[in-house]
Amino acid sequence: PAGRLRDILRRIDGRGYKAYKDCEGAYAFDDFTLIIDHAQGDPFAAPSRVRVRVAAKVANFPAGCFSTKTREVAFRDFLARGFAAAIDAAGQNRRGSGKSGQIAVARPGQEVLERSSVVVTAEHAVEVRFTVGLPARGRSVLGRQAEAIFFEDVPALVRPSLLYPAVDAAALDRHLEVTEDADHLRSALQDRGLVAFVADGAVLPRASGVDDRPLKGAVPFVSPPSLRVEIDLPNRGTVAGMGVPAGITLIVGGGFHGKSTLLRAIERGVYTHVPGDGREYVVADPTAVKIRAEDGRRVEQVDISPFIADLPDGRDTRAFSTENASGSTSQAANIMEALESGTRLLLIDEDTAATNMMIRDRRMQELVADDQEPITPFIDRARALYRDLGVSTVLVIGGSGDYFDIADTVVCMQAYRSEDATARAQAIAARYASERFTSPKDGFGTFMRRVPEARSIDASKGRREAKVAADGVRGIRFGVHEVDLSAVAQVVDPAQTAAIAHGMLRAKRQMNGRSTLAEVVRAVAAEVEENGLDALTSHPVGGLAAFRPFELAAALNRLRAFRAGQTR
Ligand code: ADP
Ligand code: MG
Repeated sequence: PAGRLRDILRRIDGRGYKAYKDCEGAYAFDDFTLIIDHAQGDPFAAPSRVRVRVAAKVANFPAGCFSTKTREVAFRDFLARGFAAAIDAAGQNRRGSGKSGQIAVARPGQEVLERSSVVVTAEHAVEVRFTVGLPARGRSVLGRQAEAIFFEDVPALVRPSLLYPAVDAAALDRHLEVTEDADHLRSALQDRGLVAFVADGAVLPRASGVDDRPLKGAVPFVSPPSLRVEIDLPNRGTVAGMGVPAGITLIVGGGFHGKSTLLRAIERGVYTHVPGDGREYVVADPTAVKIRAEDGRRVEQVDISPFIADLPDGRDTRAFSTENASGSTSQAANIMEALESGTRLLLIDEDTAATNMMIRDRRMQELVADDQEPITPFIDRARALYRDLGVSTVLVIGGSGDYFDIADTVVCMQAYRSEDATARAQAIAARYASERFTSPKDGFGTFMRRVPEARSIDASKGRREAKVAADGVRGIRFGVHEVDLSAVAQVVDPAQTAAIAHGMLRAKRQMNGRSTLAEVVRAVAAEVEENGLDALTSHPVGGLAAFRPFELAAALNRLRAFRAGQTR
């Protein structure tokens, strides 16, 4: 019973901080069970890990919250937001100084993701996981303050955020319905021959480069009539918008007219967005990968030969490694790694692409003979990519009309309004020939796949066996290594980064000297899909969110110690 925790806290009051260890255990409160999994060893260590579990008959959420995986994920995401909001509403630092007394939970952004901060049991109990900085004066226990945290503060957070009668039922419903609709929309794409969908009325631009909420006063999206499709959704009814067909799509238009904003919304469309975000009905093929140049990155044994061959130093580009990739080689590696991981849609923006990787016009072809140029630009490979491998491309390009020759669809952005410019672009291409010599190679061909070496994945640090940590969305500390994810656009939540860090260790266990990298990352993703995010850690932790196999592969590919062999 909870009284036991009160007794312990009173007994250890004023004693050395380590006495908090006596609190570890489970305690029955009126409405919930409090579980103190881990009491921190000193006031400056990582805060203590705590869970609150509310039984089904107390929490009392309707069965519709648990009926499908999609609904359960949305439900848990909703509760995680509610708990974080309750912490905000309560205000911080009411108990003791510094981090002591602080109650914290992972803070969700605009995406609805499976989160380990809130889990549900088969019996429909709900559990929230958070951290508490146990209060200290100097290095001694402040038992009375701790008592106030567990007997006043925590119950005050639980009641409004985890008990059904108290939460905003209408907002919960909307959260479930929007998520369900978005998932439905995303899975409807392939059968309709689409790779992305942007709903009429969607708000694409964000408040700022560091604020992912919608821009106020933005021009809502309107689809060009010729690209308009209607899709029936289970909750909202019919939604109309622009269907981006499979194949090669260009987004053209003047500078500042909204091209990159449209592409970025599509790239984020692999995730579902919260109600009110503006991108609720903007979805992309779930395997879409944003590609960019990333000079300086390491590359391990990647077959970049479809794009780069015959380097002046005679190096073999079928198994290309470098500690310091150039703009074009890094972009080629990013494309090949995405293909290796099984993407069906590449997203490229001229703003972040290497020019020599994208275009090569007639004049340059004349000046620099083909046998002097190692690079086969994307323009000469994109069609084969689609024809031979079924991989589509959406490309933002305002600077080269040479691409009209290979495009299936051309969307022109004009003052944030979209227009179908396909016919005009084709007429222009017929009238003004680019006179390029086109692709010397025919098919895209096969490419080598990699078989990772488990021993190269080493997160040990000093005497610690494995030490991993997320650095926001920008990177991972993996033992002594820093993994730079700042160019990996589709890692969107720090909780994903944290989960990927653990996923790298899980991946190591799947590496057997035979499995390809794609098989390894898919096996980890399948483990998470089947057993939840808890499959990634030895003990239950909050603060993790689901990730795609592509981003796990991206992290492994950017671990500078990563080593791999090759196979067909
Ligand atoms: P481009 O890639 O064509 O140069 P961007 O997509 O970068 O243009 O957009 C330029 C600016 O316009 C950005 O600040 C962006 O936030 C803003 N913007 C984009 N779309 C809209 C819109 N629909 N309504 C209002 N502002 C927008
Ligand atoms: Mg741009």
